[in-house]
Amino acid sequence: MEDTIMAKGLLIVLSGPSGVGKGTVLKEFIHDKDLKLAYSVSMTTRKQRPGEVDGINYHFVTKEEFEQAKKNGELLEAAEFVGNYYGTPISEVERLRNEGKNVILEIEVQGCTQVREKVKDALTIFIVPPSMAELEKRIRGRNTEPEEIVQERLAKAAREMELIGMYKYVVCNDDAKLAADIIRVIIKRHMKSNI
Ligand code: 5GP
Repeated sequence: MEDTIMAKGLLIVLSGPSGVGKGTVLKEFIHDKDLKLAYSVSMTTRKQRPGEVDGINYHFVTKEEFEQAKKNGELLEAAEFVGNYYGTPISEVERLRNEGKNVILEIEVQGCTQVREKVKDALTIFIVPPSMAELEKRIRGRNTEPEEIVQERLAKAAREMELIGMYKYVVCNDDAKLAADIIRVIIKRHMKSNI
């Protein structure tokens, strides 16, 4: 096998409205060795939450640092989300893909639109809630945010749902384990055709 030329890894984008449970689904399959996944650590200007580790969950940066990185063309995509900036550093994504790893981004929909424009063969997966009523329940359940922010997130989610047709795959997160199993099958299928 020494002479085998290693194929560049896939670029997988997991997206969907806020509150749909992208992170929960991702946790279910990220450590599956067969999938050879590497998580792309985003850059963000939002405050570090308790339990989050700089460089593992996010690269926490100042607004100035973020703007500089964007200006220098260091980001594959960048978006504003509820008052904070988020972006994907290109260099890490490329390094990992060149090592044959399948790089996975967990990002919101504006960012996914930008990735799709730059990386035509990106494997885009949209996670949907079983219903909008269930999404509302999840958003209300995990946040202690004021009503107007909840309403803002719900309105944003409804607009984001309209972009469903832009994605290669749509997976319903009714049950996170089941959604993760479906995504495993999708990734494995694409790994085969990537050889
Ligand atoms: P949170 O602040 O809850 O960690 O993330 C808020 C939203 O930003 C989530 O929908 C998450 O998927 C998204 N997000 C995280 N990193 C990035 C990124 O690098 N780019 C974009 N466009 N969205 C991101």
